[in-house]
Amino acid sequence: MNRALADAYPDAHCELDFTTPLELAAATILSAQCTDRRVNQVTPMLFAAYPDAAAYAGADRHELEEIIRPTGFFRNKTSSLIGLGAALLEKHGGELPATLSELVRLPGIGRKTANVILGNAFDVPGITVDTHFGRLVQRWGWTALTDPVKIEHAIGELIPRRDWTMLSHRVIFHGRRVCHSRKPACGACLLARDCPAFGTGVVEPEAASKLVKGVEAPRLLRLAGLDEELAESAADTAEPVEPAEPEPAGSTGPPPEAAEAKSAGDPR
Ligand code: SF4
Repeated sequence: MNRALADAYPDAHCELDFTTPLELAAATILSAQCTDRRVNQVTPMLFAAYPDAAAYAGADRHELEEIIRPTGFFRNKTSSLIGLGAALLEKHGGELPATLSELVRLPGIGRKTANVILGNAFDVPGITVDTHFGRLVQRWGWTALTDPVKIEHAIGELIPRRDWTMLSHRVIFHGRRVCHSRKPACGACLLARDCPAFGTGVVEPEAASKLVKGVEAPRLLRLAGLDEELAESAADTAEPVEPAEPEPAGSTGPPPEAAEAKSAGDPR
């Protein structure tokens, strides 16, 4: 399954826009209970106004709140950004540290955010257990655990460390495009043959093909073995991918229905 995911999503990547570790940290803080698309609309103005830790530390609270207001929970997020800037100045010379233990001590940065930063800004392998990742690895029977940290460790045992970051991207890409929370497109899924949860969603191929999202839909349908007519029609009809489903604040775990996969899958 891991190899099939690698073939299906060779360009999987973090869908937040950033150019520096600090920008990624700020964008990830804003992404709590907000879509990546909305965050990417806000961050150009944010990054221009607050280019470094000192700018966040000395921010006028009201001005910062107004910029990030569209991302929701803007008062808490403003506190996190100002606190992050101050902590970076005080303890790290204004730079973001590159270790998990130091990152998780910073305001606004939990373990999931820290792994996003490590994997995407510092090239340090990290597994990001968001709602998609937790749901899918449970459906696949890779783990029965529900706690995000335990899921992270369990999957880390199954997959070589060098692949952790890309695995996270690929699983999240598949969750956003094919293996949806409520209506997974099982009948149009390239993993159907190996997936112990096949049948959780729609199995009739034509109906399932309409659930596959994104510009990659025709290629994904071909990889799933669907006929060319269905694949071609998806080029015109596939819905765009919403880059991130908002998650409940403080929750990075899978939704309850993810515990459906009962038999053990093989990630290889
Ligand atoms: S077969 Fe269904 S449950 Fe399994 S990965 Fe594909 S869409 Fe998800």
